[in-house]
Amino acid sequence: AEDVFKKIVSHCKEYGFVFPSSEIYDGLGAVYDYAQNGVELKNNIKQYWWQSMVLLHENIVGIDSAIFMHPTIWKASGHVDAFNDPLIDNRDSKKRYRADVLIEEQIGKYEEKIAKEITKARKRFGEAFDEAQFRATNPRVLDNQKKRDDLHQRFSDAMNANDLEGLKQIILDEGIVCPISGTRNWTDVRQFNLMFKTEVGSTAEGASTIYLRPETAQGIFVNYLNVQKTGRMKIPFGIAQIGKAFRNEIVARQFIFRMREFEQMEMQFFVKPGTEIEWFNKWKEMRMKWHQALGFGAENYRFHDHEKLAHYANAACDIEFKMPFGFKEVEGIHSRTDFDLKQHETYSGRSIKYFDPETNESYTPYDIETSIGVDRMFLSVMCHSYMEEQLENGETRTVLKLPAALAPTKLAILPLVRKDGLPEKAREILDDLKFHFNCKYEEKDTIGKRYRRQDAVGTPYCITVDHDTLKDDTVTLRNRDTMEQQRVKISELRELIEDKVSI
Ligand code: ATP
Repeated sequence: AEDVFKKIVSHCKEYGFVFPSSEIYDGLGAVYDYAQNGVELKNNIKQYWWQSMVLLHENIVGIDSAIFMHPTIWKASGHVDAFNDPLIDNRDSKKRYRADVLIEEQIGKYEEKIAKEITKARKRFGEAFDEAQFRATNPRVLDNQKKRDDLHQRFSDAMNANDLEGLKQIILDEGIVCPISGTRNWTDVRQFNLMFKTEVGSTAEGASTIYLRPETAQGIFVNYLNVQKTGRMKIPFGIAQIGKAFRNEIVARQFIFRMREFEQMEMQFFVKPGTEIEWFNKWKEMRMKWHQALGFGAENYRFHDHEKLAHYANAACDIEFKMPFGFKEVEGIHSRTDFDLKQHETYSGRSIKYFDPETNESYTPYDIETSIGVDRMFLSVMCHSYMEEQLENGETRTVLKLPAALAPTKLAILPLVRKDGLPEKAREILDDLKFHFNCKYEEKDTIGKRYRRQDAVGTPYCITVDHDTLKDDTVTLRNRDTMEQQRVKISELRELIEDKVSI
């Protein structure tokens, strides 16, 4: 699986999807640029989300708030005091780690040991293997399960109590070594705030510290009453936003999975107090359906309900997707209560209560948040679509089986040869179709090579313009996934393709 992931990362670079930022200066940690094909795919993902949220729901509207906000907002939201990761350094390698991640990986090691025993036993016993029975009786499995559960308990207790000394003690007791140097030379654990700071103002005296937003949500909360009033929205209603967020992540790994600058698609749904759990459950289901509508297979998704809730939440769950490196969070759904709005009332000194015209009451709404990372969604789409296929003639082809609606290019227009008027005819078709969907014209290399290149960037359809085209206005239409070819009339192309690629 690690190998597949490496291949996907290099494919992203080789075919113009994602480049490391500032590459000619050896890059900048955990920052990436989207290239010519990546930006199209990313825009399509955003459009797919925006349409389902904003265009299909009468009671959801969008906004685009500024990245810079009044610094007190981050005090009110709790980010200044509590948006921290517990950090630990290894004195020997001088590398920095997240204490919680080191411990979670240790928990994972016990799970791996259990899984190995189970795989071994399944091979030995075949059909007759009873996993539940084996788990309950095998001494090695029982031992590892106990170690895992004890560690998990100690870890949750330390995290809940914000006990930094306790986290360090776990690392020492478990004998966790530095992944690089293999030494146990750990420093104390300390809190590290993830927000980036900068200064606004031109003179030193007038300057004040402001933050790059670590989530887009707060831009929605502080605007919610403006939107409600000017949009004449009635509760329940939602506000959606897509935008950049910034976190000074300590552990920056796994390519675009965890970045320091990333993009979120968030929707805050305001409801009447007391109805929030019902709405939380509805949104959980709706969001899962949205993911599954891409056709990647229900078995690749799962809910992960949170046992440990953030201070502002009364229910929370993640939607996880099966990446090559395991099931990982792509989206979070949180019932955030009235915490944020109440905090902003307290800190701003303004009332931002909702007035219900039907019951003549005023109240602070409760909020359900759905928050998904564009980049993680991008990664899940890439991971699922990347395939190496063995062909009948013995060759392998690398193909990105992207959902057609998300593909950067919908149609490649290829003249068979670069003469006899074929390029001109192909360009005529391009000039007609380019207003309707993303088309690419390509004339270099053999037709076989051009097909392969389009397969590798996920173009669902190619047409070849040949000598017969000049006679009868038909072209060969090739399907990326089946590689089947059929002859179609130029006049029918638009409808045929539009039907398959529209979001
Ligand atoms: P994690 O536990 O992986 O750090 P989180 O629980 O802190 O994520 P949220 O604060 O709930 O994440 O943010 C909502 C979504 O934003 C996440 O589900 C994820 O898709 C995305 N996201 C969060 N942090 C990053 C990051 N550093 N890089 C890319 N996407 C991110």
